[in-house]
Amino acid sequence: MECERAEKLIQSYVQDKMPEKEMEEFIHHVRNCPSCYDELETYFIIRRAALALDDDDKQSYNLKGLLERDLREKERQILQKRRRNVFFSVLILILTILLILFTLNYLEFVEIPWLKGLF
Ligand SMILES: [Zn+2]
Repeated sequence: MECERAEKLIQSYVQDKMPEKEMEEFIHHVRNCPSCYDELETYFIIRRAALALDDDDKQSYNLKGLLERDLREKERQILQKRRRNVFFSVLILILTILLILFTLNYLEFVEIPWLKGLF
């Protein structure tokens, strides 16, 4: 991702409106680009400070740490989602293989002893 694109996405990140498919690349970019990170941090802190004004939340005193926490939380979500996707891909693969075996067995192209026992 280019800086220009990342800069355009900063507002949507800060407002929590980042399109999901852009999130990973965006985070990867700011992690590796100090100038975009600084810009994101500035907007993020301003936004959080504004939200925290009438909020007594102790977290808001550590504004610098907030962006880091937020980034980590989003990275964790991305990872979790990817794990879930892998899980379902494997599940579908296994079901597909079973279906093929079942069909071949049914059509008597192959004989699968442990399947025979089921019928
Ligand atoms: Zn950049």
